[in-house]
Amino acid sequence: MITRCKLCLYPTTKPDLHFKDGVCAACLNHKAKQRVDWVNRYEDLMQILDKEKRRNAEFDCIVPSSGGKDSHYQVIAAIEMGMKPLIVTARTCHLTELGRRNIDNLAKYAPTVEVEYDPVVRAKLNRLSLDLTGDISLPEHFAIFSAPFRVAAERGITLIMYGECPTMEYGGPPESETHKTMTRAYINEHQGFLGMRARDFINLEGITSEDMSKYMLPDDSKMKNITAIFLGQYIKWSSQRNSDVAFRHGFSFSKPAECNWWPHENLDNAQTGVHDYFGYLKYGYGRGAAQLSVDIREGLMTRDDALEEARHIEGVFPEVYAGVPFDDMLNRIGMSRYYFSKVADKFTRHSLFKQRDGRLVPVDLW
Ligand SMILES: [Zn+2]
Repeated sequence: MITRCKLCLYPTTKPDLHFKDGVCAACLNHKAKQRVDWVNRYEDLMQILDKEKRRNAEFDCIVPSSGGKDSHYQVIAAIEMGMKPLIVTARTCHLTELGRRNIDNLAKYAPTVEVEYDPVVRAKLNRLSLDLTGDISLPEHFAIFSAPFRVAAERGITLIMYGECPTMEYGGPPESETHKTMTRAYINEHQGFLGMRARDFINLEGITSEDMSKYMLPDDSKMKNITAIFLGQYIKWSSQRNSDVAFRHGFSFSKPAECNWWPHENLDNAQTGVHDYFGYLKYGYGRGAAQLSVDIREGLMTRDDALEEARHIEGVFPEVYAGVPFDDMLNRIGMSRYYFSKVADKFTRHSLFKQRDGRLVPVDLW
């Protein structure tokens, strides 16, 4: 059985999501955001930024970037606030053409460091993490959080500007929406590594500690001077506003797969379709329902219209994702279709679904 939030499409099966009177934390936080004194928060932000500007260093901050719509917004906002940002992009597991184009576009606005990874090790990590945890994207998540801190430590940059606070925008346990900074503790607690740490992969299939060091945060001694803030705790976060800013600055987009609702998110990694599909198998909701939920909260559509849309797109398998055929993606990680289907079945919570035309449909949408 699936029970969903009364206001959006998030189900109670979403990990760590707290509910009150049938309303999810993401919707509760969205309401609370209307009561925040954003002028005051902006003044707080200016104080943080002024401190960095006074250092007169080559760069005032790092903007961690995928080249996506939010990254475009963060970089443009940083420049408009008088900052000199260094963009740090951790190479995705399987970079798409659209991803490449958007990284290059954003590099027109500020210097960019692209952190690259050994592709043979990366493919092993993708295959192992899919098999062991049902999440093909664990190495990418490790990289997104470690790369900006590693570059900051190497270059003596003391401020990192992440985008939204995930537990604020997408909900989490009580109180988790108040975090203003990304710390080692926040990353370990809320970033969903499914019980695996980067170091747990050492010695699997010949992976060495040196291979994994790039995926780990620097030592505490190197982290202590670095502050990583969530910009979304100082400037009210809006996906719609961010995509508008991105479009005006040359961002390219095209809907990556039928099971997505938005055309402008997660375009840079051909494996994201499988990442999202496994989330669907485990928890009964896909990227489509998550994106529709944001649009409901932002007042762009009604819950009934969103539910109707979800009936059509939820659970449609991404045979092609962001222009890359599923078989090409599987070849790169060295997994057969047969083995993939075994792994998928292992992680499917069958009680959440009924079969229709070969597609698993959540029982409440069937
Ligand atoms: Zn909700």
